[in-house]
Amino acid sequence: MAADESAPDRLNPEQCLTRGSWVKLICGASNQDLTAIADLCALYGAAGVSCVDVAADSAVVRAARQGLDWLEECDLPRPWLMVSVSDGPDAHFRKAWFDPTRCPPDCPRPCERVCPADAIALPAAVDNRRCYGCGRCLPACPHGYISERDHRLDNDAIAALLADVRPDAVEVHTAPGRSAAFDDVIRALAGSKVPLQRLAVSCGLEGHALTPQALSRELWSRFSSLRRHGLRPLWQLDGRPMSGDVGAGTARAAVQLWRRLSPLAPPGPLQLAGGTNGHTIDLLATDEHPAGVAFGGMARRVVMPLILEAQARGTALRHWPEGWRRGLALAEALVRPWQVR
Ligand code: SF4
Ligand code: SF4
Repeated sequence: MAADESAPDRLNPEQCLTRGSWVKLICGASNQDLTAIADLCALYGAAGVSCVDVAADSAVVRAARQGLDWLEECDLPRPWLMVSVSDGPDAHFRKAWFDPTRCPPDCPRPCERVCPADAIALPAAVDNRRCYGCGRCLPACPHGYISERDHRLDNDAIAALLADVRPDAVEVHTAPGRSAAFDDVIRALAGSKVPLQRLAVSCGLEGHALTPQALSRELWSRFSSLRRHGLRPLWQLDGRPMSGDVGAGTARAAVQLWRRLSPLAPPGPLQLAGGTNGHTIDLLATDEHPAGVAFGGMARRVVMPLILEAQARGTALRHWPEGWRRGLALAEALVRPWQVR
């Protein structure tokens, strides 16, 4: 694939954070759909993201690197590779589970209809590779058959994984009241001695009875922990707990949280996430400059039909020229407005 000469000049990820043009692709902290992940990383990398954020899983990291290696073969810049972990229970690190043999044969299967990842296809149960823990199916089952299972790594496993996969950056999902658990994760990360470009901290207000001032105190405590270990922060402010929503309302939550935290947050770039989508940029005034944005479920959903069509043709999207052109146009529609702000 030749480089697109109409594309904006590519800045490196640090320059993008400074300029406010950083865009991160979130592949999903528990998404293990390896074929899709390689294509997602290639596609959004070609569209110009600064970073791809994937599950802390060596097979997933290998798949992501296939996509990133392909970019380099095409003479395109390679985004940072980030892996996500958590210091406590978190919806991003769960998967749905049910026993399909219990399901009544005449069930209209609402679980299957609500799943945005096509992870439920009876008669099989939940496809663990595709489920990213959004939780939509849990209340959808009229019999209450669907439960959630925790997929977090413990701190020893986090340190071992980091030493093995050596990512450019790590994101730690945290929540109010978990500063001691956060410290433990940071100690485990630092103990692996892997140099990290940035340590992203993902945190939000929704679901917590907390004022912005109290959230900023939580972030300052995380900042002290990062400083002790010489790690450079990147604050990921989650307007909504999960990415993947499409309406302007969810985008507003992310922008509002950024506005509230901007005057209170510790040093380091502030990036929008959680509910971000194509509407997000239009909600910012011309003099408002967050460091950038992360796109998750929405970015995946718009291109997944093409990735699946490529798979049905027995190939990958990056090796199917017509599908690639269509997918790249969709990815660029999300990414480019941030690059030219
Ligand atoms: S609806 Fe969400 S939680 Fe349920 S199987 Fe699909 S991706 Fe997993
Ligand atoms: S909605 Fe419940 S009972 Fe029906 S197919 Fe899904 S898990 Fe089974």
